[in-house]
Amino acid sequence: MGAPGSGKGHISKKMAADYGAVHIAPGDILRQHIQKGTKVGKEAAQFISDGRLVPDELLQGLIDREIQRADKKSIILDGFPRTLAQARHLDSLVDLDFVLNLDIPDSAIVNMLKSRLVHVPSGRVYNEQTNKPKSPGKDDETGEELMRRPDDNPVVVAKRLGNYYNQNWPILRFYQKRFKVHNVAGRTHFILWPKVRRYMNKRLHKGSGLMHRCARCHR
Ligand code: ADP
Repeated sequence: MGAPGSGKGHISKKMAADYGAVHIAPGDILRQHIQKGTKVGKEAAQFISDGRLVPDELLQGLIDREIQRADKKSIILDGFPRTLAQARHLDSLVDLDFVLNLDIPDSAIVNMLKSRLVHVPSGRVYNEQTNKPKSPGKDDETGEELMRRPDDNPVVVAKRLGNYYNQNWPILRFYQKRFKVHNVAGRTHFILWPKVRRYMNKRLHKGSGLMHRCARCHR
C-alpha cells in the first residue's frame, strides 16, 4: 500500500522480479484496457482521469481472474485493495502473508509525479529526474512512446492524495487488526527499497510460508 506516486508500482515490480512472484496491479490492467479500447476500458477511463476509484463491479472480475491465473505462485498486489469491500472480498480468496505500507511525505510524492512517464503496454515506469529512459520519451525495451499519465496533473494529484488518505485508513485499520501491516518510511525509493528487501529477507529466512516459493532462495 502507498499513496499515488509513493513508488509502490516500482517497488512491487522489483519485489516480484527478485522474489519470483506474480505482480498484479489494477491500475496497469485498467490502462491497458483503455489503450485497447475495450468495454471495461471505456467505462473506467472517466473515473481514472477524474482521480476517482473505478467501481468494484468493474474491477473485481479482472482481479479475481488474475489471482486465479497465478495459481499456486506467490502474488504481489499493487494498488489492491483500495476499499473495505475489496479487502473483505480478497480475504475470502487468499490469506495475505503481509501488507507493506509505504509511508512517504506528500512533498516527495508531488515532486515525483511531476516527472513520471509510463510505458502503458508493459506498465514500466520512468522518472525524468531519478530513472530516465535511455532515449528521452522512449521505452528502453521496445523504443515505443512513453506517456505522461493524464491523472498526474497537479489538480488531479491533489484530489487523488485527498481521496487516498480518506479511503485508506479503514483498510490499514482492517489489516492492523490482523497484525499484517509493516510500515516502511522514506522519501525516495533509494531509501525505501533496501528497507523493503531487508524485511522480505527477514521474513523469508524466518521460514514463513513464503520460503518454498522464493525463487531467490532456490538459486
Ligand atoms: P496510483 O497509485 O498512482 O493512483 P494506479 O496505477 O495504482 O496509480 O491507479 C490508477 C487509477 O486506477 C486510480 O486512480 C483508480 O482510478 C484506478 N484504480 C487502481 N486500483 C484501483 C482499485 N483497487 N480500485 C478502484 N480503482 C482503482
